[in-house]
Amino acid sequence: MSKPKVVILGAGYGGIVTAIRLQKQIRLDEMDVTLVNKHDYHYITTHLHMPAAGTDHHENARVAISELIDERKIHFVKSTVVEILPEEKKVVLTEDVLSYDYLVVGLGSETETFGIPGLRENAMSIHSINSVRFIRQHIEYMFAKYKLDSKHKEYLTFVVGGAGFTGTEFVGELADQIPVLSRTYDVDPDLVQIINVEASPTALPPGLPNDLVEYGMEVMRRKGVQYKLSTPIKSCAPDGVLLGDGQFIRSGTVIWSGGVRGNSLLQQAGFDVQRGRVKVDDYLRSLQYPDVFITGDCSIVMSPEGTPYPANAQIAVQQGYNTARNLICTLRGKPLRPFAYDYKGTVASLGRGEAIGILKVKKVKGKFAALLKKAIDGRYLYLIGGIPLIWKKMIFKQKIAARNHHVRN
Ligand SMILES: Cc1cc2nc3c(=O)[nH]c(=O)nc-3n(C[C@H](O)[C@H](O)[C@H](O)COP(=O)(O)OP(=O)(O)OC[C@H]3O[C@@H](n4cnc5c(N)ncnc54)[C@H](O)[C@@H]3O)c2cc1C
Repeated sequence: MSKPKVVILGAGYGGIVTAIRLQKQIRLDEMDVTLVNKHDYHYITTHLHMPAAGTDHHENARVAISELIDERKIHFVKSTVVEILPEEKKVVLTEDVLSYDYLVVGLGSETETFGIPGLRENAMSIHSINSVRFIRQHIEYMFAKYKLDSKHKEYLTFVVGGAGFTGTEFVGELADQIPVLSRTYDVDPDLVQIINVEASPTALPPGLPNDLVEYGMEVMRRKGVQYKLSTPIKSCAPDGVLLGDGQFIRSGTVIWSGGVRGNSLLQQAGFDVQRGRVKVDDYLRSLQYPDVFITGDCSIVMSPEGTPYPANAQIAVQQGYNTARNLICTLRGKPLRPFAYDYKGTVASLGRGEAIGILKVKKVKGKFAALLKKAIDGRYLYLIGGIPLIWKKMIFKQKIAARNHHVRN
């Protein structure tokens, strides 16, 4: 009898954790598992704000998939998914078609531009290793360009749209990197402007108490960050952004971190979506196709209060655990376990040695919170790759930094 075929799409938080948990628990003869991902590495999205700003090397934010999976149990295919055909139980890749008995979709998110004219064409966003390498190079290029033609002050104006998690963490790192870049390119740091534009009345990730928000904004202001709150971006052009209050900020760099939506392949496949995300049942399966599990940013999980949980890495990891377990239960004919999100808290980095957050219900800030953030990163590395991965990405990292002039010393 042929083994049931499980195909996992995407090796992000949800997908890689599903694969790792499956390989730990299945027998070789039990199921045929294929993991498909665009790249041959898993990237740690929660780290990307650092290589984007140039305060860390992008190598520290990615791990070869071959280091994480047991190829006797998980067959890895490096390819791009172009279509999902849930009625036919098939997935079309750029050079192949895979059929499945059970599918796990963990294809992450795409940038949400809310239809703001020019944003897609003219702004950059932090979403992959390729995008952050580009952003880092672009920022350096702006410094170099300014030195060739110093009447263009806008080359040194950096606009970040969105002051949520990603925007805040990136702005904190960029502010730390400005003195390094200014020294490298002989630029007066006082000429550099970082402007964080936000449509809502407060900055920093939603849900944090007011005193932490005020603390966070004060830290950022001390680093030189300017805020424009309650100010939507109306449009974006190659030479800057037009704001809701009519002001046009001339800038050579616009980074958009104002929102994400689920991967568009789900909508194209006919799944019912809200902002690209699919509502799932208690076991994380599509309501339309119970043989399709959906994890991470592609899914909508409702809280007991009836509101959707925010999409983040923490929930994606927990969904990975639950999905692997329920796949095994399905194939072994055992009862499935409903998904229950265990919210452990949230910590946002504000740059070097500074962070704010909530641990369960306890507020944390400053150096302690920054250490906690590192511990959270370490815990994730341990979970997917054990002590060797922590050693490689958190300790060996110093050697990479020492070789690279644009990385924090
Ligand atoms: C800069 C930044 C900072 C963040 N900080 C935090 C934080 O501190 N804490 C937190 O909890 N959350 C944070 N988040 C959010 C968090 O990273 C996401 O919620 C999480 O990555 C979602 O996991 P996922 O498995 O759904 O998708 P992802 O981790 O995005 O993985 C999706 C995978 O699918 C692959 N893929 C996509 N399309 C295709 C295709 N067509 N074919 C093949 N492969 C494809 C991608 O290459 C990727 O490997 C941050 C996000 C960003 C961008």
